[in-house]
Amino acid sequence: MKPTRSDILNWLREDDPRQLEVLWRLADEVRQLHVGDEVHLRGLIEFSNRCMRSCAYCGLRLPNADLVRYRMTADEVLACAREAVRFGYGTVVLQSGEDGCTTVEWMADLIGRIKVETRLAVTLSLGERSEADLRAWRVAGADRYLLRFETSNPTLFAKIHPSLPGMKSDRIAILRVLRELGYEVGSGVMIGIPGQTWADLVRDIELFAELDLDMIGVGPFIPHPATPLGGRALSAGAGLEQVPNTELMTYKVVALARLVCPEANIPSTTALATLNLAQGRELGLQRGANVVMPNLTPPQYRERYEIYPAKACVRESASDCHGCMRQRIETIGRAVGVGRGDSRNYHLRG
Ligand code: SAH
Repeated sequence: MKPTRSDILNWLREDDPRQLEVLWRLADEVRQLHVGDEVHLRGLIEFSNRCMRSCAYCGLRLPNADLVRYRMTADEVLACAREAVRFGYGTVVLQSGEDGCTTVEWMADLIGRIKVETRLAVTLSLGERSEADLRAWRVAGADRYLLRFETSNPTLFAKIHPSLPGMKSDRIAILRVLRELGYEVGSGVMIGIPGQTWADLVRDIELFAELDLDMIGVGPFIPHPATPLGGRALSAGAGLEQVPNTELMTYKVVALARLVCPEANIPSTTALATLNLAQGRELGLQRGANVVMPNLTPPQYRERYEIYPAKACVRESASDCHGCMRQRIETIGRAVGVGRGDSRNYHLRG
């Protein structure tokens, strides 16, 4: 049975470990029933850290002059995609800052090349783009798009994610466009953004269900010192209504996301592994998640994709990441997914 608004709030505020065991078990059962025991691997390629925006949370923001910028060539991205095939992944995720120099043609050409050469599903995560660009990439063969709405509270969103001049940011509207264009649609939020209240987070989770998301990615907000939100003390002193940016809170949201969207693909994210390197990914997978995203970004670029500091696994090679993920999945008695791992929801919707 799907949780009501008050169930969601009660779970978010629950701190008794014995009670929380009930939530973890429920989420794990729903996960097993609806998406099975396979854990799908999505190879992440962070192909550009250039960004024209000034998001208050993200280290890639334009005003961060300390960051050495890079943009991979199409051949470099293609080499990573070949590596994904070698490792047996079914999907590559092409992610970047909002890089104005990623032209619609360059991207369409790259997607086309990946599609001609491989059978990989292609997921894009390039931020906010025009309907025409999104359509062109869909036509070129892109399968899925990830765009977190970050928070459902419009006032908080406007504060942390300033619009570009003359173009009001409306991620929810873009998510609807993506659906119409036939993408599998992914979104999600950060947990514990300074100023985010319990009511906001409840609404975020309800919105996952209303948008009928195919993929839901959530992670703790991690302050980056080169950003306006970087210096903020988090749970401490932030007021009674402030959601803490903790590991525990993240598991609760992963579990609740599974209960409200039983068929969705839900990753156990790098941000979770950053808070608990030893066990974060496994616990995510045991509390509702069914996807992991091993990093394929070449080592010389990886450290520079610093959306938040001390990101887990920045020094690992792609093959280290691959071996480590496989082992973690097998250790908890789950199976490495075979094939593309498409959203069941997407197929049911038709
Ligand atoms: N430019 C793309 C991709 C951004 S990186 C876009 O805006 O969609 C992907 C996600 O990283 C963001 O959506 C955000 O939720 C998350 N992120 C950024 N900065 C973060 C931080 N300081 N802590 C935790 N997550 C962060």
